[in-house]
Amino acid sequence: MTATVGLDRDTLDMMLASLDEFVAEALPDERRLELDHEDVCPEDTIRAMCGEDLGVQLVFIPEEYGGLGGGAFDSYRVCERLARVDIGIATSVFATFLGTDPILVGATPEQRKEWLGRVAEQGILFAYGATEPEAGSDLGAMKTTATPVETNGQVTAYRLTGRKQWISNGSIADVYSVLALAPGGPSWFVVEKGTAGFATAPPEDKHGIRLSNTAALFLDDVLVPAENLVGREEGRGLVQAQQVFGYTRVMVGAFGLGGGWEALDRAIAYSQTRVQGGAPLSAKQGFTHKLIVPHAVRLEAARAFLEETATRIDAGEGVGGALNTEGAIAKYLATEAGNAAAEGAIQAHGGYGYTRPYLVEKIKRDVRITIIYEGTSEILEMTIARDRWQQHLKTSGAYYRDAARSLDGVGEDCGGPTAALALECLAAVMEACRVGRLTRNQHILLRLGELVAYAECAAALARRAAAAAAGALPDKADRRFKPGALAAVSRVFAREAAHKVAEDGLRWVAGASTGADLAAALPLDRVRAAQTGLLADMNLVADALYGREAGSS
Ligand SMILES: Cc1cc2nc3c(=O)[nH]c(=O)nc-3n(C[C@H](O)[C@H](O)[C@H](O)COP(=O)(O)OP(=O)(O)OC[C@H]3O[C@@H](n4cnc5c(N)ncnc54)[C@H](O)[C@@H]3O)c2cc1C
Repeated sequence: MTATVGLDRDTLDMMLASLDEFVAEALPDERRLELDHEDVCPEDTIRAMCGEDLGVQLVFIPEEYGGLGGGAFDSYRVCERLARVDIGIATSVFATFLGTDPILVGATPEQRKEWLGRVAEQGILFAYGATEPEAGSDLGAMKTTATPVETNGQVTAYRLTGRKQWISNGSIADVYSVLALAPGGPSWFVVEKGTAGFATAPPEDKHGIRLSNTAALFLDDVLVPAENLVGREEGRGLVQAQQVFGYTRVMVGAFGLGGGWEALDRAIAYSQTRVQGGAPLSAKQGFTHKLIVPHAVRLEAARAFLEETATRIDAGEGVGGALNTEGAIAKYLATEAGNAAAEGAIQAHGGYGYTRPYLVEKIKRDVRITIIYEGTSEILEMTIARDRWQQHLKTSGAYYRDAARSLDGVGEDCGGPTAALALECLAAVMEACRVGRLTRNQHILLRLGELVAYAECAAALARRAAAAAAGALPDKADRRFKPGALAAVSRVFAREAAHKVAEDGLRWVAGASTGADLAAALPLDRVRAAQTGLLADMNLVADALYGREAGSS
């Protein structure tokens, strides 16, 4: 598969290289540690990144409005690289992207020209104001209102009143996209900084991403011209927000990958020099196979799904939010894996990991936000499960059996048959839930969401390993692992997915049901037999991570 829109590979590589250069100069480790400690958002640096010095925001703006016209794949690569530096800085850049999203999908051509043009030319910072104190996951509960102001029977303006909570760039943005309830329903309005009645609270004192500015917004009868109603039509706000979830969640998923890999790479480097028990930690299997390898494997499973989804978005499949479930799966696994990897990296550093100078404890606090914002993990589990549950019902259970068969051409070497086994087990678990009517328990529904993510990511990783073996990865794909090592990564994850779907599925079905016999329907012997060779493959992955053999990363 190749991406059909976006930057060419040279331009993307150039942007990534410029980003690295900029960061090395402007945000060395010591400065980031200090800013984190002092709880300071480096606004000048963020403005320099989004201005003439670097112009990173141009990646997200279409060419017709003065941007570079990057696609989802480019955004994923840039977001991962930004997150490796600092997830707070990445959040600030992302807030401009998010703030302009309703404009990109729902604005009139004149509105797009004005606001996207200003982002491209002037590097203005946007904020995205959706969340309220009592409306987080459930935006439908929002209370901010937009009251029309009429002149000679025409609506010429709106008065916005309400409060927004946890808004990234809240006190530093130049322009705000604000979701408010107009008579026709939730609608986006563009509010300029400095408008009378508009104020921001002092920045929040946060657990992590302390380089990112997060603040509440207060709107007290803020008069906004009717031209600032996005799309000039009331009631389109939630649809406009939902249309881009596939894309935006891929981007936050990339933050999980960046944070997780940055922490792991620090742990890998540390373990090569830290000698305990007469040898470096990197030589201790009990260390690598618990604290490093499983995290690397899960991050790469998430990457496979993320790259597939980004490629499909760039091919035009995501229109109207058609890939929102895929975006949810990508974000869910990538951010959960990133968060767990950072936790593993602290443990890998022992007592040193628990102190500030090694940075892994900062990364851990930073990456933690990615499983909360842009859809909490629990909301994503629900989104994923609801959609795939419908697919299961609509196809009379064929959905995952067909998905398993679609892996027929993907060989054992790349984990294909074991990933197929995970999908086959998922079909059986879902069917047991249908027969026992178990999804009436919300917990069961959400656990299905997790199992779906594991099984579908195993399939994506097996396809990616096969593509790598055939020399057919997308042009702009990450190439950290050589094909042989990636195949081992895939085999390890496929085993984990098959085991998890079968054993967790059994547990939850038994825990909730009145006796549906799932054990008889599951190919448990094959799931257990598929675990053969697991340790040898984990050894291969460890060797690749530590550059110890020909298939090294
Ligand atoms: C640092 C930071 C930056 C942010 N930036 C922005 C921004 O720029 N713009 C913006 O609009 N928002 C932003 N947010 C808000 C963020 O998106 C919300 O915090 C998030 O959506 C969760 O909403 P909430 O905090 O109200 O939690 P709640 O929705 O109250 O959730 C609390 C807990 O309950 C769970 N839960 C919620 N509903 C259900 C349910 N139906 N069933 C089961 N469990 C449920 C959640 O998963 C979570 O674990 C930011 C937040 C933070 C902390």
